[in-house]
Amino acid sequence: MSARYLSSEQDAKLRRWERWNRNYFVFAFFALILVLVFSSQLGISSGEDWGGLGVLLVVLVIPIIVLQLRLSCPACGTKIGWQAKLMAPDQCKSCGVFLRSKNSSS
Ligand SMILES: [Zn+2]
Repeated sequence: MSARYLSSEQDAKLRRWERWNRNYFVFAFFALILVLVFSSQLGISSGEDWGGLGVLLVVLVIPIIVLQLRLSCPACGTKIGWQAKLMAPDQCKSCGVFLRSKNSSS
């Protein structure tokens, strides 16, 4: 069985997902820090009431989950988002295709 690779079009789609995923992760990370730093000033974590902060955390985390769920193998369509962390995995565990194009330099 010869190794299978993605077409450059499929590869571009995957790279685009990685870029979005990484950018959002960075955004969420800094937003989280800002929220934690300024939460007392904003009055959303005053005393026992962490409800507002909890909602903000959920709002920040949901797009990460959505992004992960949206990633599927371009070759077989299996959802591979949960195999990925920040980057797509090297190879699809389901169909064994390499998740990059054959002539990509990396
Ligand atoms: Zn696959």
